[in-house]
Amino acid sequence: MPRYEYRCRKCDTQFELSRPMAESGAPATCPDGHGDTVKLLSTVAVGGGASAPAMSAPQSGGGGGCCGGGCCG
Ligand SMILES: [Zn+2]
Repeated sequence: MPRYEYRCRKCDTQFELSRPMAESGAPATCPDGHGDTVKLLSTVAVGGGASAPAMSAPQSGGGGGCCGGGCCG
């Protein structure tokens, strides 16, 4: 079950709730019982399809051949 972050605008408390995705937009009550809360953007991937881009190894030029040490400069 995804976790969502909320912040209470009454007491400025930030808290997390685990709730179904379908209820992510439902009102959340802060631990102190205040209902005036806002949902924060979380790092939880919602919607799926998030794949990390393929990292390619950095190209390193100069393979230690000639001209590496000024032999043919
Ligand atoms: Zn509160």
